[in-house]
This record gives sequence, C-alpha cells and structure tokens, in this order.
Amino acid sequence: MSKNVLVLGEAREGELRNVSFETIAAAKTISGGGTVTAVLLGDSVENLAQEMVQYGADRVVTVEHPHLKQYTSDGYSQAFMAVYEQEKPDAIVLGHTAMGKDLSPKLASKLSSGLISDVTKIEGEGDAAEFIRPIYSGKAFEKVQSKGGLLFITIRPNNIEPLAKDESRTGDVSSLTVDITNLRSVIANVVRKSTEGVDLSEAKVIIAGGRGVKSEDGFKPLDELAHLLGGAVGASRGACDADYCDYSLQIGQTGKVVTPDLYIAVGISGAIQHMAGMSNSKVIVAINKDPEANIFKVADYGIVGDLFEVVPMMIEEVKKL
Ligand code: FAD
Repeated sequence: MSKNVLVLGEAREGELRNVSFETIAAAKTISGGGTVTAVLLGDSVENLAQEMVQYGADRVVTVEHPHLKQYTSDGYSQAFMAVYEQEKPDAIVLGHTAMGKDLSPKLASKLSSGLISDVTKIEGEGDAAEFIRPIYSGKAFEKVQSKGGLLFITIRPNNIEPLAKDESRTGDVSSLTVDITNLRSVIANVVRKSTEGVDLSEAKVIIAGGRGVKSEDGFKPLDELAHLLGGAVGASRGACDADYCDYSLQIGQTGKVVTPDLYIAVGISGAIQHMAGMSNSKVIVAINKDPEANIFKVADYGIVGDLFEVVPMMIEEVKKL
C-alpha cells in the first residue's frame, strides 16, 4: 500500500539544511509511490519551498508566523499538528537533529504513535521497509519494522543520500494559517558564539582533537587542516574538560553525533563514550602515539606517531594538492 508521508524541512540563517533533503529521500523510500509533502515552519519560509520540490517533495505546506522565527517545541508542535490534521499522513519523517530530537517525542506523544528514532539506514521499500538504528551507544544495531498505525521516524543526518536536485521539477506549494497561542516561552534573541566555518553536525570532513593536543594553541594546526579540507574542528570531552576548546565542539555520547565522510581523530584515546558519536563515520583516520590506543580498533587508517609532527606534515601535503 502506498503511503502519504510528511517531512519537516529545517532551515538555518535562511537556508535549508542538508538533512531536509535527506528526509525527502527517506520519505520516498517508505512512501511506495505515495505523496511526499514537505512542511516548512518559520516567519518567512515560502522562498525555500521550491528547493524542497527540486529535491523530490511532491507538495509543500508552509506555516509562517512571527513566533516560528526561532524554534520552540510549543510553537513548532502547534504548527506541525495543524498541518498533520489537514494532511492526515500515513508516515512522518524528521531529522534526528537537535530540533528533531526535541520535537519528535512531543509530537509522537500528541499523536499516540510509536517513534523509530535515529535511523541510519532503510532497507526495503514501502510497507516492507526495515529501519536500522544504533543501540547501546553504537555498539550494536537493531532492525525495526513498523507493524501498522502511523509510522514516525527520525533519521540521523549524513546517512541517507539525498536525491539528485532537479531544477525542472514543479510541485504544489500552499500555505496554512495557524494561530500560535499559549506559548510558555518565546525566544527574544539568539546570540551565536560563532557563525563562521562549517556546521559540525553537517560537515563532510572533521578534524577532532583530544587531550593529546595539550593546549588551546595545540588546536591551531587542526583548525588549519580543517580549513584546507573544507571541514570543521571537533573535540573529545577530554579536550573540552581541559579547556582547550569550547563544549560546542564535543563529539560523543553526551556531545554531538556526527557521520562525516572523513573523521581524523588526533590525540584521542577512543573511549566508548567518544566512539558513540563518531564510529559511523565513513572513513576514520587515527593519529596517536600509543599503538594500543582503543581508537585504532575503529580506524580505517592508523598513524602511530607524535601528532605535533604528523599534523604539520599532513598540512604541507594537502597544500600541494
Ligand atoms: P585521553 O583518554 O586522555 O587520551 C588522550 C590520547 O592522546 C591518548 O590516547 C594518548 O596516547 C594520545 N596522545 C598524547 N599525546 C600525544 C601526542 N603527542 N601525539 C599523539 N597522540 C598523543 N568523551 C567524549 O569524547 N565525548 C562524550 O560525549 C563523552 N561523554 C561521556 C559521558 C559519560 C557519562 C562519561 C563517564 C564520560 C564521557 N566521556 C566522553 C569521557 C570519556 O570517557 C573519555 O574520558 C574522553 O573521551 C577522553 O578524551 P581523550 O581521548 O581526549 O583523552
């Protein structure tokens, strides 16, 4: 049976995040030929609708309201539920992002549905689709199938390939007016620490430093290498606890979960809590002076050596490319 699927697009600084297109690709797989409708929420999002269509959405419903300028679970859940009531979809797909992680349990509770969260892979299509998700901090994977009712999943960013962009695609774009009321909080202002560089959770290349980097200054060559490779800098909690860098860079069980194409772990021992956040990376390179370091167990390429010699050599080689 074909399914009509609702996906939620995510925008930041007026641009759609890649995960939006990944949710459309996931929705296509589970729709079995049904309609994929994208939902865009914000104070001014209609201009983004066409791009959702170009990445495969059949229809787009926008809800614009000043209270949706910044994400709040109250405001977004009211707006999303209004679209849900209008569309009555068979399935919902959200990104397993900071926003999706906050919003999806609230929606699932309002809808009395189950929730298959943090899906990294979908096998099969339509009703036969099976969802693979990591459990026990990434030590094992489980395969889950929905046995009926509303199917609600969140997908981990950078795991499901978006469809190719087709600029000739057209789709129906409509807007829905929703009265957003009784908000328990409104966000007056957001002050970002830094808007520079590549977003860590969407970066294709990550150079992550650990306690082995030894100081804030020790992170500078990592910044340079990340810049040369068009990537972002991350860190272990060891490095954050030691004040070498900001906690916003922390990767792991209690930090960000990332899946870049290339993850270079520099002076990181590979504690299980760190690996929970990066072991799904496509190619892992580890630089560590201890040949017994745990990180080498998940590394595709291991360099046993002093990071203060190896990283500058890498920078010189990359500059020659
Ligand atoms: P270390 O374990 O001290 O490793 C440093 C490494 O650098 C060593 O392997 C050493 O050989 C190498 N090294 C030193 N000098 C050099 C050099 N010159 N050249 C090359 N290599 C060198 N950790 C996270 O990262 N993320 C999390 O989200 C997280 N959540 C946690 C949650 C809980 C509940 C708990 C209890 C812990 C959590 N931790 C987390 C902490 C985790 O257990 C480790 O303590 C931490 O990851 C260690 O960081 P590290 O690898 O940088 O430091």
